[in-house]
Amino acid sequence: MSKQVSIDLIYLDNAATTRPFDSVIKAVGDNMAANFGNASSLHRMGINAEKVIKDAKTVLLDKLGLEGGILFTSGATEASNTALFGVPKAYRHNGGGIVTTTFEHPSVARPLDALADSGYNVVRVSPKGIADYEQRIIDAVNEKTLMVSIMWVNNETGFMIDTARVYKAVKRENPHTIVHVDAVQGFCKLPSKQLRADIISLSAHKIHGPKGIGALYFAKNIRFEPLIRGGGQQKDLRSGTEPVDLIAGFAEAVRSYPDCTQKYAALNDRLTAALGTLDDVVINSFGNAKNILNFSVRGVRSEIMLHSLEEREIYVSSGSACSKGKTSGVLAEFGVSDKDADCAIRVSMSPFTEESDIDALAEGISDGIKRFRR
Ligand code: PLP
Repeated sequence: MSKQVSIDLIYLDNAATTRPFDSVIKAVGDNMAANFGNASSLHRMGINAEKVIKDAKTVLLDKLGLEGGILFTSGATEASNTALFGVPKAYRHNGGGIVTTTFEHPSVARPLDALADSGYNVVRVSPKGIADYEQRIIDAVNEKTLMVSIMWVNNETGFMIDTARVYKAVKRENPHTIVHVDAVQGFCKLPSKQLRADIISLSAHKIHGPKGIGALYFAKNIRFEPLIRGGGQQKDLRSGTEPVDLIAGFAEAVRSYPDCTQKYAALNDRLTAALGTLDDVVINSFGNAKNILNFSVRGVRSEIMLHSLEEREIYVSSGSACSKGKTSGVLAEFGVSDKDADCAIRVSMSPFTEESDIDALAEGISDGIKRFRR
């Protein structure tokens, strides 16, 4: 990771989005300035643009450690929509089984609602009270299962699924079942060997890349119908002029993301220990990716704590993802009471996070408790 221009704030909301690496900003700018050709053009400018796209695909495939194709999309939402609507259409399925979790991101959950409405049997496996969650997903697969769609790391709690284990077991049960993984929160943050799927959704802005660019990985034998039709770009799988500058930025983010496994584990331990010294603070994350920690500060509503931390230039998220005033219900799926969900804070780290940031956060929370707890 190249050195960043310093900024005077503590940003701990990296599961929402991330600060672009300076190297990414440079790559996007350089491409906008000098490499603005249309990848479909036959002249040298077009060929240069096409090369950027080809190189970016190689960077992504190398990072995934997989062979197959890469489709660039506007983000993971489009990638997952393409997978969930496009795969059943390509295989001419009109109904059948789809196995998923009860804690998917809306970019997967909402398309699955639509598929359920049109006749698919969508089975959503809950983690409530289950020790071996992966086995429950595997057990839900049968000869009628067309697809399994699971997330690698949950964005609210950091809960992790061993996708490699699920993939192998699903294929044993039904070799025709296609496994889709939303890998947005794990990509570059966890070792890729834990990721295995036929089709994978990725997003650049969660790994210090630009917003508005994502990708769908697909294994060689996997077919899907396009979601967007038009000029036939990207082998007619996703029409629209390729955003070469954003693609260059995405590849640069993947190249620049350092191995933070140890760092996240140490910072997570430090924060957990600091929270342990405070009365009535409970951890809501378990079996999780170390860069995300969700906890409830009982007696202080999330919003109050969030804004009190903001006064100190510390940015976190309320632990229960809200949309238009309604909570997502994900924390409840993990056994967190409504009262605790109301007081939940999500901290999500980045390669920039330092021990001093964690200490400042812990102090901010301790002071927030003194000011606001009732
Ligand atoms: N999946 C997960 C787990 C996410 O956290 C997000 C972002 O919030 C998305 C998908 C959507 O990604 P994008 O913003 O690239 O559409």
